[in-house]
Amino acid sequence: MSNYKNIDSALIHGGIYGDEFTGSVNVPIYQTSTYEQPGLGENKGWEYSRTGNPTRASLEALVAELEAGTHGFAFGSGMAAITAVLSLFKTGDKIIISSNVYGGTFRVLNKVFNHFGITYSIEDTADTKTLDTKITDNVKAILIESPANPLLTITDIKAVSTLAKKHGILTIVDNTFMTPYLQQPIKLGADIVVHSATKYLGGHSDLIAGLAVVNDDELAEQLAFIQNSTGGVLGPFDSFLLIRGIKTLGVRMDRHTKNAEKAAQFLLENKAVKKVYYPGLKNAQGYEINKKQAKNGGAMISFELYENYDIKTFFKSLTLVALAESLGGVESLICHPASMTHASIPYETRQKVGITDGLIRLSLGIENIDDILSDLQQAIQKSEVK
Ligand SMILES: *Cc1c(COP(=O)(O)O)cnc(C)c1O
Repeated sequence: MSNYKNIDSALIHGGIYGDEFTGSVNVPIYQTSTYEQPGLGENKGWEYSRTGNPTRASLEALVAELEAGTHGFAFGSGMAAITAVLSLFKTGDKIIISSNVYGGTFRVLNKVFNHFGITYSIEDTADTKTLDTKITDNVKAILIESPANPLLTITDIKAVSTLAKKHGILTIVDNTFMTPYLQQPIKLGADIVVHSATKYLGGHSDLIAGLAVVNDDELAEQLAFIQNSTGGVLGPFDSFLLIRGIKTLGVRMDRHTKNAEKAAQFLLENKAVKKVYYPGLKNAQGYEINKKQAKNGGAMISFELYENYDIKTFFKSLTLVALAESLGGVESLICHPASMTHASIPYETRQKVGITDGLIRLSLGIENIDDILSDLQQAIQKSEVK
């Protein structure tokens, strides 16, 4: 292993570096489904690529190191990673989720895991005092996002983990929005970290992938069993692409977050803007907690325009910032949570948790910030209803 102390170096040298056979500085793409065995009952550590593949294994070692866990697991999507983690639970078990979790996480619990008698309840995980009273005997885990999607609500990861430990249940953190470069939940006491690596880790909007990291050998054994049994693994080529993306995570996140800080300020001072949600703003919900547990406020901003701005015209008028689902790519992306990412959440629930029809979510890319801001400004101007 190379000698380094900082995550910036681990992003490049972490996990399994290069190739011992050729000296290649990059891990080769082992595009194979199976491995020839020297004799009956003998193998070179690899048998079949659903169970294990060297390119995927190198990615798994890398993410385990970055998230300060013991074992990593790579899946075909973020939802496949979350599904594998939820498969740790049994009929009768209940999972508490934050009120702003990713729409797909809500959907898989509400429409798939409920078939197997695994239930959930939505709680305000930012309020740990009340949360304590919600942990009944059948609650087996708390699944949180901080910041949570799309209102960027901050949950105290350390406080929730401490509470979960007290009750002998698991803390699962979806760290997609922050990445290990900005926040490491396992160091704060979490048991499992999941990622949609489709977002910042991949970073180029060119692949779908998911990751899970655990900090315990027994959990690792169970998750490895589920990964191999249910089979939603990431292929070798996508594993390679993800390793490639992760190498530049540090420099990308620095630019993403610098752009977000400037954009948040721009929106805050804009007369067309009614509300700005960004954990890096001093008056934001959870600002102090976020400052303690993360490097900065991340690069996602949500905002609302005043009623005399037509959001359909606003979205149509953008020329640089792309109207699209997803986030975390080098290009700035903007979306309308109520009709896009969070459409699977019933209208009443959306209203209750604050996902209004006027809410806009912006993922700051790494373009020049002046270009991004002037695109937003001209679209705001065009959308004003006179
Ligand atoms: C996108 C996303 C997911 C789902 O990941 P996929 O790769 O699209 O399956 C889960 N959690 C969060 C926070 C996300 O943004």
